[in-house]
Amino acid sequence: MGLTHHSVGIRAIDSGLTIHKQFKNDRVIALAGNPNVGKSTIFNGLTGLKQHTGNWPGKTVASAEGYYATAKNRYVLVDIPGTYSLMAHSAEEEVARNFLCFGQPDAVIVVCDATCLERHLNLVLQTLEICSNVVVCVNLMDEAARKHIRIDLKAISQRLGVPVVSTVARKKRDLSALMEQVDQLIEKNPSSPLTVHYPPEIEAAIAVIQPHLPNSCADPKRRRWLSLKLLDRDPSLLSEIAGCYGDDFLENADLKAAIEDAEAGLLAAGFPPEKREDAIVSSLTKEAERICAGAVTFQIEKVSAADHRVDRILTSRVAGYPLMLLLLAVIFWITIVGANYPSSLLSQGLFFVEDRLTELFIYLHAPDWLHGALVLGVYRVLAWVVSVMLPPMAIFFPLFTLLEDSGYLPRIAYNLDRPFQRCCACGKQALTMCMGFGCNAAGIVGCRIIDSPRERLLAILTNNFVPCNGRFPTLIALLTMFFIGTAGGALSSLYSALLLTAVILFGILTTLGATWLLSKTVLRGVPSSFTLELPPYRRPQIGKVIWRSLCDRTVFVLGRAAAVAAPAGLILWLIANITVGGNTLLNHGAEFLDPFARLMGLDGVILIGFILGFPANEIVLPIILMAYMAQGSLAELPDLMMMKTLLTDHGWTVHTAINVMLFSLLHWPCSTALITVKKETGSLKWTALAAVLPTAIGVLICMLTTFLFGLFTP
Ligand code: GDP
Repeated sequence: MGLTHHSVGIRAIDSGLTIHKQFKNDRVIALAGNPNVGKSTIFNGLTGLKQHTGNWPGKTVASAEGYYATAKNRYVLVDIPGTYSLMAHSAEEEVARNFLCFGQPDAVIVVCDATCLERHLNLVLQTLEICSNVVVCVNLMDEAARKHIRIDLKAISQRLGVPVVSTVARKKRDLSALMEQVDQLIEKNPSSPLTVHYPPEIEAAIAVIQPHLPNSCADPKRRRWLSLKLLDRDPSLLSEIAGCYGDDFLENADLKAAIEDAEAGLLAAGFPPEKREDAIVSSLTKEAERICAGAVTFQIEKVSAADHRVDRILTSRVAGYPLMLLLLAVIFWITIVGANYPSSLLSQGLFFVEDRLTELFIYLHAPDWLHGALVLGVYRVLAWVVSVMLPPMAIFFPLFTLLEDSGYLPRIAYNLDRPFQRCCACGKQALTMCMGFGCNAAGIVGCRIIDSPRERLLAILTNNFVPCNGRFPTLIALLTMFFIGTAGGALSSLYSALLLTAVILFGILTTLGATWLLSKTVLRGVPSSFTLELPPYRRPQIGKVIWRSLCDRTVFVLGRAAAVAAPAGLILWLIANITVGGNTLLNHGAEFLDPFARLMGLDGVILIGFILGFPANEIVLPIILMAYMAQGSLAELPDLMMMKTLLTDHGWTVHTAINVMLFSLLHWPCSTALITVKKETGSLKWTALAAVLPTAIGVLICMLTTFLFGLFTP
């Protein structure tokens, strides 16, 4: 601050503030603006450390002054308090008004927010009523660009009659251009600011008072403004006026009579004081609207001609669906092919660790049951979940997120709008299905994007038909086990990708069927019309996508699965090893369920797996494997092919695998999803239906396929 000892204390006339000029001919610039428009950033950007801070006399409002020099002039910048208006409703507004009116600044910079310029013009227009030397600074231009807001600065400047400069204060962009405008304004004073016109009654009152103002106030603009303000009889303003123009200014009998006349005229015209301010504010708002009309444009993101061409294909009737399925199949294929190798590597690694753990337990002479519960129970299930789930998730999620980011998902909703309309639902349901691919609970919450309560309920109740990532790995593992290797190499993975696509397609068709069924029975109604804006295609940010899908989804889902899998592994090991009457608890349960399960082409163990997998679908297959292993002799954590051997040893056929996949797709939602349904619908009835509906469909379909298989196999 070493500069202040040069300063010449000059009291800004009757604004109460002492301006610390460095040199006598320093020009005083007031910096005005609404709060948060970047005024301080501009002030600091221009003045750097050359600042002087204090308080506005008698007010708790801080004042700051700083120095800036252009090639032509030296300036004292006075940062006046941030205010929304100059109507003097608060200490800040009063200080700001007084300084602008009576502080005699050489120029005023009014800082506006480019993202809501129209609202900020209110202060500009009020400032223009008091001062002529105004430069409008439209700051936050970067934000406006981000929001696709275009501002025709030239048009705004012409309509306001004062210079308008755009800046990005945070990057110090165009701050010197702003000050160059101030230079020009001060030297050439080329501006002819616009005058806001009020309703005729108010204009008439101004016309009554204005001629009677003493000549000590010469500026016509100031005379007009004072005439208007004198009607308010605001004591703080009156004392400022007296301070500026002398006590007799207001004592003038002529003026007093004119004010009374004007007041009476306004009352007679139905304009009591409270109505006046409304009328004034509304005139200012209308003026701001007029100034921005056509000059501030909100560009809805334009879909380019190229996008249109692409859309014509991707959303066409003929190619839309096949391309959608093809894209899905490609993603599945990449996932399956890519997951195979890391999956077996991971399982080898984890198996190696399991061996070391076992050695450790032996070395510590730990009892068998402890080793069984912790290593064969908890660790093994955890290891399974990690090795089987992690690789496909780490590949599938980023790929799916890429689709999401590129703008393709809304196209899916667009494509599926017609079939959903046929089922008396809306196309947005397709978007909630896409969210369900990640996690059904997320999909169910996502149903909030659907406005109609009936359609929202339809979407919530049917969300479970798209497999979440808890079920994907099960599907992929089964497909890989039972279909890879039958054809060999790349062909077989292509085959399983197509099959997985078929499974998903089946899920989509079931969704449509169930939606139709519901909308013809418990949820009758007509579909609402739905307009979906297709956003432009965007090049996804690959790095961000990978990072986000790994962090948000993969790690989260895996963490949740592991948190459930660990205790489930323990419980499972216990029920698989505690014997009652010579048989394990698990066997008792499995035997009990077996007859019913057989009707569905499953077995008791599989059904137990689904039931115990209620906390999280991820652990269904590990439970089944664990159950078989407890009965069998397999002592190692198997890779997929060994798993297949284990399964076929227990009587699995391709038909069993298909039915397990079908039932995985069509059974009750996991506990998290059901809790979410309860939360979103607030009704136990709908929650129960959300569980019963898919289960009933699943049981029926599995029974049907078993019946059909029975017909074709001798
Ligand atoms: P004031 O209340 O008007 O003094 O506003 P500040 O100067 O404190 O700025 C408010 C916020 O807007 C701060 O976080 C600034 O960094 C930010 N800001 C200021 N100018 C710009 C700009 O041009 N672009 C962007 N993006 N941010 C800005």
